[in-house]
Amino acid sequence: MTRDASLFVQLGPVPPDDLHVDGVVVQGTGGVYDVRLASGATASASLRGRLKHEDRGALKLAVGDKVTLRWENSDPGAWIITTIHPRMSKLARRAPGGARGERVVVANLDQVLVVFAAARPEPHPRMLDRFLVIAEANGLHARIVVNKCDLVTPEQAHALFREHADAGYPVHYTSIATGEGLQELHDALAGRSSALSGPSGVGKSSLMNRLFPGLDLRTAAISDSVNKGRHTTVGAVLHPLPCGGFLADTPGLREVGLWGIDPVDVPHCFPEFAPMLGKCRFADCLHTVEPGCAIRDAVVSGTVSRGRYESYVKLREELSAQH
Ligand code: GDP
Ligand code: ZN
Repeated sequence: MTRDASLFVQLGPVPPDDLHVDGVVVQGTGGVYDVRLASGATASASLRGRLKHEDRGALKLAVGDKVTLRWENSDPGAWIITTIHPRMSKLARRAPGGARGERVVVANLDQVLVVFAAARPEPHPRMLDRFLVIAEANGLHARIVVNKCDLVTPEQAHALFREHADAGYPVHYTSIATGEGLQELHDALAGRSSALSGPSGVGKSSLMNRLFPGLDLRTAAISDSVNKGRHTTVGAVLHPLPCGGFLADTPGLREVGLWGIDPVDVPHCFPEFAPMLGKCRFADCLHTVEPGCAIRDAVVSGTVSRGRYESYVKLREELSAQH
């Protein structure tokens, strides 16, 4: 990563006093944040002085935040974060009881890529549903990547997550071995800020190393299962991509978890339910046992897949028990 030195090359040895520049926080520890500027340089900046933002009480600086820096021409000079711009999205770990215990893992993500293997390890559609619900609850678009397609026939690969494609999710079929789907995956990442998720062993690090050699992902940190129980040591890092955009090296979606999702929001986390919502006989229908349920009718008619519906029932039960 280009650091302060190159910034000074571009700005001259001493930047003009009161210079303001915008950037994105890519890493932060101990009150000092690495901020990636549009020029491609990275500035080390600290949060001090008076901070201007809409919601001062609630907002803590997170990786992914868009900020404005001011150069303070003292001796030695320093970059000060003066403004945190409003967040467009956030991936947050929530504590039960609302926003107070919330910790933002990454701000301003455009999408989450959930990676599974077509085989070795066997894919689990119901585990995928869990990841997708977490993404939806955080208001993030999700893409599904089916990697290791060289290990199965194209028909088998397409059958695995057809119900998710039918539900409206983009599905990428990829293989490191044959190169299938890699260009399309690259194009889907270019210019966007993305997080990777999925079980370990499915090829997340292999894919990213192939698409972006030299990215230096902390591979263990992007494997949800490997990272279980280690979350206190790993903070998110955003890697700038050569094609524009960022890839978040996060502790993963599973770690963000389902906690804090209100059970009444679960139907909204299944995008294919949307046309039926509000059409059940009872306004407070839970879509489980009630007569005249539009969602269950859709399962019977085949508009909604039975597997996806089973995930809905299971996740809703799980969240109701926590609530
Ligand atoms: P991660 O834990 O998700 O980051 O998975 P890795 O990238 O470490 O990959 C796990 C194993 O799967 C490695 O042995 C890879 O060489 C292998 N692998 C990754 N992608 C593919 C692929 O497309 N096809 C096949 N056959 N093996 C792959
Ligand atoms: Zn219903």
